[in-house]
Amino acid sequence: MSLLYIHIPYCKRICSYCDFYRTAALRSLPATLDTMHREMHRRRDYLADKRIRTVYFGGGTPSLAAPEALQRLIDTADTLWDCGHLEEVTVEANPDDITRDYVAALRRTAVDRVSLGIQSFDDRVLRLMNRRHTAAEATDAVKRLQDAGYENMSIDLIFGIDGFGGRVLDESLQRAAELSVAHVSAYHLTIEPRTLFARRVEEGKMHEVGEDVSEREFGRVHDILTDAGYEHYEVSNYAMPGHRARHNSAYWTGEAYLGIGPGAHSFDGDRERCRCSSTAEEYSRGEIGFETETLSPGQQFDEYVMVSLRCAEGIDMAYVESRFGSQHAAKMLAAADRWLESGDLIADGGRLRIPPERFLISDAVIESLFE
Ligand code: SF4
Repeated sequence: MSLLYIHIPYCKRICSYCDFYRTAALRSLPATLDTMHREMHRRRDYLADKRIRTVYFGGGTPSLAAPEALQRLIDTADTLWDCGHLEEVTVEANPDDITRDYVAALRRTAVDRVSLGIQSFDDRVLRLMNRRHTAAEATDAVKRLQDAGYENMSIDLIFGIDGFGGRVLDESLQRAAELSVAHVSAYHLTIEPRTLFARRVEEGKMHEVGEDVSEREFGRVHDILTDAGYEHYEVSNYAMPGHRARHNSAYWTGEAYLGIGPGAHSFDGDRERCRCSSTAEEYSRGEIGFETETLSPGQQFDEYVMVSLRCAEGIDMAYVESRFGSQHAAKMLAAADRWLESGDLIADGGRLRIPPERFLISDAVIESLFE
């Protein structure tokens, strides 16, 4: 089966840490949505398997589009591919877009999962990040969605923020658990070049946290959420039983996906990746360009190692042998030896995996196993 990703790169306000491709020029949003229907028609043959398993509206801020507009995109997909067995349809939303009217309209669509960009339940952190919402609005949005029947909900949180670890972080995590959200994505802040935070760091008004702080906070996130019953199933992702993100989990197991919209990425499930290289402005005028990349066998192997070791299930050794050959498998096992001895890797059931509480150091393990 295949996945459909629809990228809506529009934001009302730019967050202090964000280096994603996005634009605040909202006037071209309606024309961009129109072009998306045309792009779907144009790329109807991209996916070998025409059965769509999940749809994901990401951004940017997809909740800036009306629920009816999201449904029209799903309807177009349904005319082009087989959407009769959809397992999950997610929309990313900003808490202040989650009004009563918006939720009522969303319930009339096929969207059955909402991913809320909350980031923190502390107003000082939200102001620092230049987010549009307050902690109270975030809580209201969660409750409003739950009251409307959206139990399958995810929230994003950010940790590793200078001066806001400790109690502030603990309270955000506890609030998430108290609200019984089904899924939490918890990301470590990265100071990216050309962001407001990067400028603050250069000016000495803000500091990147040190490795010791990162480790401590990663441990707090792991401990608080797993104690509350969440399964730590990917470096940055925690789910209540039965609530893993199906769309994202399928990315990590290498399923094919078609990305629609300016800046969206696609993968043919084998070796070809492509990215829509048009800006939102160009795209809204119907100018759709692509950059493609063909992965070498070595890149395919490295990619499999990377995504697998970031997940709780880890590397399937039988799969490595059958897809990449026994030489690759033997070489990788030899490189894994020192990590098996240190306990940073575990071998069981024909798999190699990193214990979730050690996910933070996964980059070092992963790189050492690359081809
Ligand atoms: S809402 Fe998301 S995409 Fe938009 S500026 Fe903030 S972090 Fe970036």
